[in-house]
Amino acid sequence: MKYALITGGSRGIGRAISIKLAEQGYYVLINYCSNIEEALKTLEIVKNNGGSGEILKFDISKQEEIEKSLDDWYSRNKEQHIEVLINNAGIRKDTLMMWMKNEEWMDVINTNLTGFFFTTRLLLKDMLINKYGRIVNIVSLSGIKGLPGQVNYSAAKAAIIGATKALAQEVGKKKITVNAVAPGYIKTDMTKDLVEKDLKTLIPVDRFGLPEEVAELVGFLASDKASYITGEVISINGGIYT
Ligand code: NDP
Repeated sequence: MKYALITGGSRGIGRAISIKLAEQGYYVLINYCSNIEEALKTLEIVKNNGGSGEILKFDISKQEEIEKSLDDWYSRNKEQHIEVLINNAGIRKDTLMMWMKNEEWMDVINTNLTGFFFTTRLLLKDMLINKYGRIVNIVSLSGIKGLPGQVNYSAAKAAIIGATKALAQEVGKKKITVNAVAPGYIKTDMTKDLVEKDLKTLIPVDRFGLPEEVAELVGFLASDKASYITGEVISINGGIYT
């Protein structure tokens, strides 16, 4: 059995990735933070499609929770390897920097960036010993070009882009690839407050993207076929120039 962990795998883009990786033969570990109903719904879809997996609760911003949950998983699954890690969990708390509160900065940095660090460091050791791994970090258009009102979020995503490029060089020899996928506007709960009719004028393809479209790209990068692609940031944004 091959195992893949998708952080924030319970809703939105993470759900579509969980479904896609299960289709590709992975037993999927669907991480969620608080919404167990949505996590179970994702697991049900995976199972209805003939796949297998389980849900894993931990708050990505809390080191002890991640370690406890994954240590527990490894102790129940001795000698198994999680060979694919999709760092997808993320939040936004938008406001102009002038009005940004300390918590709005810290929450976004801790969830998007520090969560990536805690989870990746924990799984990396096993990938290095196993001499195989796929790490895909879900970043954002906002981390490439910067978006007003998102100084915290742009900073977190840009930092992960730097980390992706550095880590790719550290682990390439061990057949571990590390890439980032940078979506533009994708229809999920995270963007439900945005008005597609107004924003689509900025998008050459003239619409928001779908989580399933992002999942296709992630599925490829997570596969064995993508073994010569590493340290890349691949945009999927309907043609917005970055
Ligand atoms: P959603 O808000 O739809 O889903 C977020 C997911 O992350 C949920 O599964 C949620 O679980 C989980 N999550 C949130 N906080 C935590 C936490 N502290 N610990 C563990 N899990 C957590 O987001 P999207 O699907 O839209 O976004 C997925 C990723 O894609 C994010 O990194 C986002 O920044 C990025 N992105 C999204 C874009 C878009 O247009 N939608 C554009 C560019 C990038 P729970 O329900 O339990 O809280």
